[in-house]
Amino acid sequence: MLDQPAILASAEDKTDDVVLDVSGASCRFDVSAPALSRLFSKEPRRILRAVENVSFSVKRGTTFSIVGESGCGKSTLARMVVGLQHPTEGVLNFRDIRRADGRLGPPRVQMIFQDPYASLNPRWRVGDIVAEPIRELKLRPDKASTTERVGDLLEIVGLSRSDAARYPHAFSGGQRQRISIARALATEADFLVCDEPTSALDVSVQAQVLNLMVRLQRELGLTYLFISHNLSVVRHMSDQLAIMYLGRFVEAGPAETVFADPKHPYTRLLLDTIPDVERPNRARRPMSGEVPSPIAPPPGCSFHPRCGMAMDRCRVDPPELRPHGRVAVSCHLPGAAAA
Ligand code: SF4
Repeated sequence: MLDQPAILASAEDKTDDVVLDVSGASCRFDVSAPALSRLFSKEPRRILRAVENVSFSVKRGTTFSIVGESGCGKSTLARMVVGLQHPTEGVLNFRDIRRADGRLGPPRVQMIFQDPYASLNPRWRVGDIVAEPIRELKLRPDKASTTERVGDLLEIVGLSRSDAARYPHAFSGGQRQRISIARALATEADFLVCDEPTSALDVSVQAQVLNLMVRLQRELGLTYLFISHNLSVVRHMSDQLAIMYLGRFVEAGPAETVFADPKHPYTRLLLDTIPDVERPNRARRPMSGEVPSPIAPPPGCSFHPRCGMAMDRCRVDPPELRPHGRVAVSCHLPGAAAA
């Protein structure tokens, strides 16, 4: 049995188990040249639209994955969720949950970063890295119980108690990510925002870390917001999935539905990049073209320069995200790509 406070289900939770509500969230950055220089060059202001009008909700104990290519705005969205970035518009709202001590309160949110080595202080022993949040938050009354808790956490993530005495450089990439997870759990976090947590790891090590995360979710009732550029990474752990392109969701819904029957041409292309061991000879369309600049997105549908199905309307009329069966899709021809 793990020594992590389980989140207790309460009567109100059964009717409404949403823990995070995001409504109309946008994040824009002013990347204009200095005012004086713009005055001489007559350059207009340049606004980078990292995230545009994104809405979604995450239920307790589930995984909501956001997938898109580099620069699509998914990491900015993750930073908004953990409070490292303020939204320019919209609301991000964590709902109270009932904790093991019976009190209602907002979930404890922690972030797990892509590069575990950069996020671990190389001068600190692993035991101190994991113990720091316990001391800061005063989660244990004394040194002995803190040390005991650190040992427990290292075992929970598949390391040994004696690893507390070693430094981060003595560990492999996968082990370092386990240390990052142990440190996040040390805060008694309920909600983990995982920004490409396995993309710096070998494929076999990736699978081990993902399996660990799935086990911890099952045993501790954790909720994940999982960010990735790789659909195959999130395939087996997502409950809900959103595909992001140039700051907007272009398709969102239950993961199994999106994987089984992608409606947006971009989702289709992302799926085509995943090797299929059962059908190694299937026709696969390569991903072509670059993601356009979010400072000057294409008019109409922002995906039209890369879309094999683009028609005249797509070049002038931006599609809205609309329900289509069990998913929401932003396309004038939803489902046509699959056909
Ligand atoms: Fe392609 Fe048009 Fe759909 Fe955009 S709206 S994804 S360009 S078919």
